[in-house]
Amino acid sequence: MSDIIQLLPDHVANQIAAGEVVQRPASVVKELLENAIDANASEIKLILKDAGKTLVQVIDNGKGMSVTDARLSFERHATSKIRSAEDLFQLHTKGFRGEALASIAAIAHVELKTKQDRDELGTHILIEGSTVKSQEVVVTPKGTSVSVKNLFFNIPARRNFLKSNTVELRHVSDEFHRVALAHPNIGFSMYHNGSELFSLQSSNYRQRVVNVFGTKTNEKLVPVEEETEVLKVSGFVGKPEFSKKTKSEQFFFVNHRFVKSPYLNHAINAAFEGLLKEGYHPSYFLNLTVDPKTIDINIHPTKTEIKFDDEHTLYAILRSSVKHSLGQFNIAPVLDFES
Ligand code: ADP
Ligand code: MG
Repeated sequence: MSDIIQLLPDHVANQIAAGEVVQRPASVVKELLENAIDANASEIKLILKDAGKTLVQVIDNGKGMSVTDARLSFERHATSKIRSAEDLFQLHTKGFRGEALASIAAIAHVELKTKQDRDELGTHILIEGSTVKSQEVVVTPKGTSVSVKNLFFNIPARRNFLKSNTVELRHVSDEFHRVALAHPNIGFSMYHNGSELFSLQSSNYRQRVVNVFGTKTNEKLVPVEEETEVLKVSGFVGKPEFSKKTKSEQFFFVNHRFVKSPYLNHAINAAFEGLLKEGYHPSYFLNLTVDPKTIDINIHPTKTEIKFDDEHTLYAILRSSVKHSLGQFNIAPVLDFES
């Protein structure tokens, strides 16, 4: 009998991996913004054309890459962020899989410009469908610019599956806001088809929330602060009378990463018990800080679901700290929330 198993060529493997990492323009936005944050950028600019279908560009003023790293960054499993499996349990970066750029380059036309502070000149790379078209020396500012053009140019089924520009742009804005909320100290701006949609100056968390959701938000925020050995909670919940029919203002950030957690969401609902009208949902913008050893982020490529070692304890702390804040607010409604 003849042998029939073959290793897939890299560009095919990359395209398959891309299926998991990149669903739509918003996925590209998330990966590029996270890379800019991991590069310690203080200013990040997002530029889009046609809701990102034609162009997603992220420009940062972070640490940039060397010539060799610039080329290597597009290889699968190429990362500067972890060295060993143990590192997975002490992550301090958004990325670690080394898959995003390889995946994106497999399904789009990608242009990279990057320069480190110490270098005189930078690197310019064009890559299409995993094939490097050119690599040149270029004059460019410190930092990195990645342009992702014509997403899914080589996978028509995927391209056709994309929704209208209005819908895709909403996904992009949601992603942009999640990242911006997780990093209030970084300045973010977003442009679509030539006009500026958002410009968020570096600020504190309260100001960032207000800048994203509008000035009216300020009066509805109740601060939540709690620190225990296993969990630090800080942020805001919305006053009960400002609860919404949608869940559009519900945010958990765990170690500066937006996560979805139906279980922890339940803890908040429990804290609001008896305070909300039927069919209304509380608003919350909560930062949870835990020891990276006690969570597993590596359950899904998009990393929005995570596993906690001791969910029950976190639930209890969260519920009681929110309840406490709401209680304080009720007995002392004239509290000064300006601080
Ligand atoms: P990961 O973020 O998981 O490491 P990526 O494919 O997203 O994988 O990026 C690969 C590598 O390219 C990163 O580990 C980093 O070293 C480098 N890189 C990517 N984007 C940037 C950027 N904006 N600035 C500096 N380095 C970057
Ligand atoms: Mg990355």
